[in-house]
Amino acid sequence: MIKGNKTPKVTEQVDILIIGAGPSGAVAAAIAAKQGLKVKVVEREIFPRFVIGESLIPIVMEPLEEAGFLDVLMEQGYQKKFGARFIKQGKVCEFDFAEQFTPGWTWTWQLPRAHFDKCLTDQLIDRGIDIAFGTSVTGIEFTGTDSVTTIVDRAGNESQIAAKYIIDASGYGRVIPRLFNLDKPSVQPPRTGMFVHVQEDNRPEGREGEQITFVVVRQDVWMWVIPFSDSTTSVGFVGNTEFINRYEGSPEERMRLMIADEDYYADRLKDVPFLFEPKTINGYSSSVKKLYGDGFALTGNSAEFLDPVFSSGVAFALEGGRLAAKLACKQVQGEHVDWQTDFHDYMYQGVETFRTYVMAWYDGALQDIFFSDLTNDKFKEQICSVLAGYVWDQTNPFVKKHEKAVYKLAQVLNGVGTD
Ligand code: FAD
Repeated sequence: MIKGNKTPKVTEQVDILIIGAGPSGAVAAAIAAKQGLKVKVVEREIFPRFVIGESLIPIVMEPLEEAGFLDVLMEQGYQKKFGARFIKQGKVCEFDFAEQFTPGWTWTWQLPRAHFDKCLTDQLIDRGIDIAFGTSVTGIEFTGTDSVTTIVDRAGNESQIAAKYIIDASGYGRVIPRLFNLDKPSVQPPRTGMFVHVQEDNRPEGREGEQITFVVVRQDVWMWVIPFSDSTTSVGFVGNTEFINRYEGSPEERMRLMIADEDYYADRLKDVPFLFEPKTINGYSSSVKKLYGDGFALTGNSAEFLDPVFSSGVAFALEGGRLAAKLACKQVQGEHVDWQTDFHDYMYQGVETFRTYVMAWYDGALQDIFFSDLTNDKFKEQICSVLAGYVWDQTNPFVKKHEKAVYKLAQVLNGVGTD
């Protein structure tokens, strides 16, 4: 199977080739290199580069630790995130990651991704891992599990890399899904995200100024406010495309109108300087026909992206990168790997759990729970663990029977079926 426009002529031989140096690719590279395998990363952009996805969830600390990134990340002074606040029509629901069901990390960070992603790749370079920045993958030929990949640098120089395994962590580049027709429409309806970074020199002191907040604009539209530790703040609106498109004018005018229409932050964010023209992503959800094939695995956004609402994107990207790297190393070292069970089924168990929460957010069931007077601490702790990313803990009923647990609780709180 050849995709691309030139006959390959191999100039380099590696064990594992990783496409994309975002968090998924970086963790995969670190873990594969720890096994002593020859790893190469090919990255289209020059870092630092802007990418959205700034609110992490506590489970990310596990793959970051395993990849050996945590010590350096701890030194960066990123804003710590201890929970999440949701606001709807004056009602407030707060989750504190210290009060959760699953034993695990109780905090993480909210951070500018350009800095974070560069920090990870600097670590890889320090460890001697070869990253070709400014270089794009344009074609791949598979022969069984072996492959030859064609890459092109910014000067137009083309070369080929032979690899025993490819991890495609190319995010929205979706290199293998595009080359091999593996894209599948997401079951999520197309939604839009519009966002900007602002300079906030007069933030409220303490928690109010530092806390991450999600404001419900209407059931299918929400706003994020993510303060960073350097007095800049990420502000975004997500959801129903038609609603977001109703705002007219330049990107800055539209963003300022949306902010002005939102009660809680309108005053705080009035006239704050924008650090770049607001960016828009339409139809951000993605899916694939398969997560792996002979000689390759898809991780992070190259595989599946649900929705930003519970900040699960980087968590899945890291978990997928970590797992794919471990399994690819085993395979390259001659061991049998059951990719269906150990990769596909495992990843989808987490994705499907989060999918329930995303669906239930937009259809209102989860908002009914969050903004009810939920007094049952046990349920709240179990839901909190899902929001912290612990979606593989089968002892949590809100994981094991996620759909039933969420909708049943919403019904009970709404007084349906309780007579
Ligand atoms: P990326 O970080 O996108 O990295 C992929 C890399 O591959 C890029 O650097 C790219 O240059 C490179 N690449 C692409 N094509 C090629 C090619 N042909 N050759 C070589 N390299 C290539 N997630 C969260 O966790 N928290 C959030 O708060 C959050 N908010 C979001 C808000 C919005 C509006 C959207 C749309 C998404 C959000 N996400 C969030 C999701 C998050 O952006 C992604 O899930 C995450 O960045 C995926 O990481 P990754 O490593 O898979 O891909």
